[in-house]
Amino acid sequence: MDMTCVDEVLFSADPDHWRPGDRWLAGGTVLLSYGTDITRGAPMRLLDITEAGWEPTIWHATELEIAATCRIADIFAFTSGSNRPAPHSVLPGLDLFAPCCDSFVASWKIWNVSTIGGNVATALPAGPMTSLLAGLDAQALLIGPGGSRRRLPVAQLVRGEARTDLGEGELIRSFHIPLTSLAQRCAFRRISLTERGRSAALLIGRLLEVDRVRITITASTRRPIIIDLGRATGYDLTPSALHAAIESAVAGDWHDDIHGSPRWREAMTHRLGEEILTELLAADDSTADFRVSGDITMTRSER
Ligand SMILES: Cc1cc2nc3c(=O)[nH]c(=O)nc-3n(C[C@H](O)[C@H](O)[C@H](O)COP(=O)(O)OP(=O)(O)OC[C@H]3O[C@@H](n4cnc5c(N)ncnc54)[C@H](O)[C@@H]3O)c2cc1C
Repeated sequence: MDMTCVDEVLFSADPDHWRPGDRWLAGGTVLLSYGTDITRGAPMRLLDITEAGWEPTIWHATELEIAATCRIADIFAFTSGSNRPAPHSVLPGLDLFAPCCDSFVASWKIWNVSTIGGNVATALPAGPMTSLLAGLDAQALLIGPGGSRRRLPVAQLVRGEARTDLGEGELIRSFHIPLTSLAQRCAFRRISLTERGRSAALLIGRLLEVDRVRITITASTRRPIIIDLGRATGYDLTPSALHAAIESAVAGDWHDDIHGSPRWREAMTHRLGEEILTELLAADDSTADFRVSGDITMTRSER
């Protein structure tokens, strides 16, 4: 689509080049299909960051760094199949990447062009990269004009539907996933009203310790909601405590659009949360090599 409001497009990932009316352009699958920026209004100039040359993925001693410009196809290939960098027994959290990529209503264009940073910055409730990163306690590195740098948990960066904490001229440079999160036992559940439809509820759970569970709720809520259960949380590891924790954290603010009514999303969130709790607390982690959730399959890699 032509963006008739735009006068100029230039290649730059330097926040010091930013001026009022500018927008960062990544894969362009939101900007060019809506013909505007749904997060901030019509742009006058686009700063294309796709030539920034950022390495898509880097392993550090304590974290996995993923560049904001990393495409969905790149991260899927990196964490799946024979390219997978570590087996299930070492980093089970890598099993979450493929089902989250599959949770896109993905045409060839979305899969091969859209970026992880663009998905988080768009802040749609059904943003599967937001679900993945928030579910793994990832932080975003934000760079801004004047050399400013700050790190913010992805669960706090996304503040509501098409609303983020990004300031004027701020750019998401990268995401940082702690290796401790990737090393924890995890569970994934997703549901949609239709086959391959947009996510209506997407929950990711992790066994933090033998007596502590964290469940991150997305898609059914306007922003990621994190629920902690078990030791020192005020909630024990039971379904009734889980339901109380969900009601308290969401406080009735269920997402409402054509992809699911608030009451149905609420019911599905409770049901999927209970399934996750049961799965994570089961004594045996080797019950299945794959698990189907709605129309998405989570495959476990070699143990
Ligand atoms: C058919 C179709 C199906 C879709 N299905 C889904 C879906 O199921 N779930 C979903 O969430 N989305 C969906 N989308 C929306 C969109 O494609 C994705 O959100 C995509 O991941 C956006 O990434 P992008 O790189 O193309 O972003 P762009 O279009 O380039 O940018 C989107 C927004 O993010 C900002 N931005 C981009 N990168 C950065 C950065 N590094 N730092 C700061 N701001 C940045 C831009 O300025 C703009 O405001 C769909 C779109 C289409 C056309």
